[in-house]
Amino acid sequence: DKPEDLKPRSPVVTVLGHVDHGKTTLLDSIRNTKVTTGEAGGITQHIGAYQVRANENKITFIDTPGHAAFTAMRARGAQVTDIAILVVAADDGVMPQTVEAINHVKAAGVPIIVAVNKIDRPTANVDKIKQEMANYNLVPEEWGGDTVFAEVSALKGEGIDNLLEMIVLVSEMQELKANPNALASGTVIESKLDKGRGPVATVLIRRGTLHVGDSIASGTAYGKVRAMINDKGKNIKKAKPSTPVEILGLSEAPQAGESFRVMENDKTARNLAQQKLNKDKNELMQNNSAVSLDDLFKSIQEGEIKDLNIIVKADVQGSCEAIKHSLEKLSDEKVNVKVIHTGVGAVNENDVMLASASSAIIIGFNVRPDTSAQKTAKKDGVDLRLYRIIYDAIEDVKKAMQGLLE
Ligand code: GDP
Ligand code: MG
Repeated sequence: DKPEDLKPRSPVVTVLGHVDHGKTTLLDSIRNTKVTTGEAGGITQHIGAYQVRANENKITFIDTPGHAAFTAMRARGAQVTDIAILVVAADDGVMPQTVEAINHVKAAGVPIIVAVNKIDRPTANVDKIKQEMANYNLVPEEWGGDTVFAEVSALKGEGIDNLLEMIVLVSEMQELKANPNALASGTVIESKLDKGRGPVATVLIRRGTLHVGDSIASGTAYGKVRAMINDKGKNIKKAKPSTPVEILGLSEAPQAGESFRVMENDKTARNLAQQKLNKDKNELMQNNSAVSLDDLFKSIQEGEIKDLNIIVKADVQGSCEAIKHSLEKLSDEKVNVKVIHTGVGAVNENDVMLASASSAIIIGFNVRPDTSAQKTAKKDGVDLRLYRIIYDAIEDVKKAMQGLLE
């Protein structure tokens, strides 16, 4: 883009912090106080991100709190966040996940605003929080540092306006810009398979303007944008940079963190998706032998395997992340449990091919394999297991590692 093509765009904000420090409450509070007033209907539906107005400015919030989402996106090369809000409860303090969040955000090079939350609590101690944060090089401005602190009560809606103002201030220093007059591209924030509507993806536009009727490719998914729904649940025809929208019309649900691109036409979009599919397949060509949970213990004993590769398919992205996290924690000195792929939706033939090529097993959570996947799994001897309870899946893998699987 030429400098003259670039126009200011709103900041995209992610909320991180330790569990129970108030991330969800803060996101709800911002959404409710800022959006329900004045805008018809308010935000009626959760689409994974929402936009609010702060004076003349708009701010986009990613509606999935926590660094799991933040890092999952970054792992796929998607840096969507311009500013990170680090929530710390004033009656608690810096906790392990606070530190993790600080590290993730610093690694991403994203500016941090500290939201000291729960200031309504009698035991709130803002100075103690500032002191603790200073130990991690987040030094408040009034102490000579350059970190912005905002005191809030997410529950009571106090300090929200000030926090939003701080976000605008920090974003103004970043001079965020994008070219709105280009074929749109951006990032998938989340996606799901909707019974009635088919694959539904919430995307955040980074560059260009997305229109209904555009042909897009995202990973191995492609299609024409059939409809676009904004965070107020309204159907819209076009969307500019930093706008989150839900789109319908894709061939499958793309992964969160996957990028998307508008192509000249249907054919080029399909070709790009096909290329990605072929690339995935080629990567699978270094074929290995099938692994199964039933003889995992033996394979470990005999030194045949060091990595237990797993593919996780689930009905929602949140379950994928949760299962992945729990499975990888099972790693010990003998075997490294590695979730090599996660995805939302039915287990399909691609999953089975990936499993087959990477000696992986497949865990399906609240999803079923489609017919061709079932056939291929049988033919290739891929161990495909379906669960309705996360605990059962984790227990099975744990037992298999110890040779205790019945
Ligand atoms: P998350 O795990 O970080 O998403 O935290 P939640 O938003 O779920 O909040 C955890 C608990 O803290 C809930 O019971 C909230 O009602 C409570 N909480 C969140 N913000 C505040 C606040 O500003 N003041 C008080 N007193 N409680 C809060
Ligand atoms: Mg929460």
